[in-house]
Amino acid sequence: MTSPHDPPLRMLMPFVDLRAQFAAIRPEVIAAVAAVMERQQFILGPEVERFEQEIADYVGAGAAVGCASGTDALLLVLMALGIGPGDEVITTPFTFIATAAAIARAGAKPVFADIDPHTFNIDPKSIETAITQSTRAIIAVHLFGLPADLAPIAALAKARSIAIVEDAAQAIGARYQGQRVGAIGDLGCFSFFPSKNLGGAGDGGLVTTSHPETAERIRVLREHGSRDKYTYETLGLNSRLDEIQAAVLGVKLKYLDQWNARRRDKADRYRAMFAERGLESFIELPVEPPGCQHVYNQFVIRCPRRDDLRGFLAGRGIPTQVYYPAPLHLQPPFANQDFGEGRFPQAERASREVLALPIYPELTDELQLAVVDSIHRFRTLI
Ligand SMILES: *Cc1c(COP(=O)(O)O)cnc(C)c1O
Repeated sequence: MTSPHDPPLRMLMPFVDLRAQFAAIRPEVIAAVAAVMERQQFILGPEVERFEQEIADYVGAGAAVGCASGTDALLLVLMALGIGPGDEVITTPFTFIATAAAIARAGAKPVFADIDPHTFNIDPKSIETAITQSTRAIIAVHLFGLPADLAPIAALAKARSIAIVEDAAQAIGARYQGQRVGAIGDLGCFSFFPSKNLGGAGDGGLVTTSHPETAERIRVLREHGSRDKYTYETLGLNSRLDEIQAAVLGVKLKYLDQWNARRRDKADRYRAMFAERGLESFIELPVEPPGCQHVYNQFVIRCPRRDDLRGFLAGRGIPTQVYYPAPLHLQPPFANQDFGEGRFPQAERASREVLALPIYPELTDELQLAVVDSIHRFRTLI
C-alpha cells in the first residue's frame, strides 16, 4: 500500500523515548543514586520512607507502602483483604494480565465484566450483573490513564461491603471528580515499570490506602509476614521497593505533573490535527468524560482497519502498539466454560480495533505530525 510519493521517514521514531527524559534530569538522578551507594543501605531505608510519604501526600491518601512491582501491589492488597479460595473478585478482561493474575494467585476466582466501548474501562452496569454472594472486591483499572467511572461502582460496592481496589498502574496523577486516583477506592495500586508515567530504573510498585490497619498489614505482608525480625504472624512475600528505585522515583515525582500536562497537550494536538484532516469519522479518538482528567499513559485510537493501518505505519517507520491484542477471558490461564468467545463482546471488539500511537512528554511536533499525516495518507489510499 505504499506509493512512490511516500518516502520512508529518515528518522526512526521510538514508541517511547526514555533517553530524552533522562537527558533532561541526568545530574539529579545520578546524584540521587550516588547518595544511596554512599549510604549502602539498600532495603527499607530513608529513601523508601520519604518516597512513601511524598506519594501519600501527592495522591491524597493516608498512607503509601512501597513494594517490588505493580503486580505485587495487587497481590498484597488482596492478601491484606483476606481474599482467597471461595472468594470472587470482579475486574475487566481488557487490561494487562497482572490485574487478573493477582486474583488467581491469591486463590480467588477472577470474574470478568465487560467494558464501556468508548472509555475502554469496566462498565458499572456489567459489574452489577456479575456480583454474587461471594464477591469480595472489585478491581477497577484506570486503563491508559483514564479514570474508571468509580461513583456508580462505589454505590454498588458500598451496599454490599465489597472492597474497591483501584489498579492505577497506568494513571498516576489522573483525577476523578477532582480527586487523584488511588485515593478514591479502599486501596490503590501503582506500578513504576519504566514505561509508566512515573517510571523507575527497573521494577517497583506501591499501595495507597487511607485505612491505617490495612496499610500496616501490607507492611507486614511485604516483609515475609513479619513485624519483628524472625517472628512471623502470617505468611507474606519478599516484596519491597528498593532504595535505589525510591531515590530515582523521588527525583522524577517532582516532574510528574509537568510531564502529565505535556502528555495532555500532545493529546490535544493529536485531536486538533485529526479534526483538521477530517479523520474523526475514520478513527475513534480517546474520550475524556466530564469529571475525568486523563493522563495519557497511552493515546489509543480505534480503527476497524487496525492491522492494515498498523502495517502501513510500520512501513513508514512509525511504531505503534496494540494494548491488548486478546482479552484475558480468551487466554489459556482464564478461559473456561463461564468465559468463552462472545461473552464480553466490547472487550473482544476493542482487542481487534485498538491502536496505541506514540505519546510521551518529549514527543516532538515533527514526529507527531508524521504520525497524523501517515494515518491521513492511509485513509486516502484505501
Ligand atoms: C503495568 C501494569 C501492572 C503491573 O505492574 P508491574 O509493575 O509491571 O508489575 C498492573 N496493571 C496494569 C493495568 C498495568 O498497566
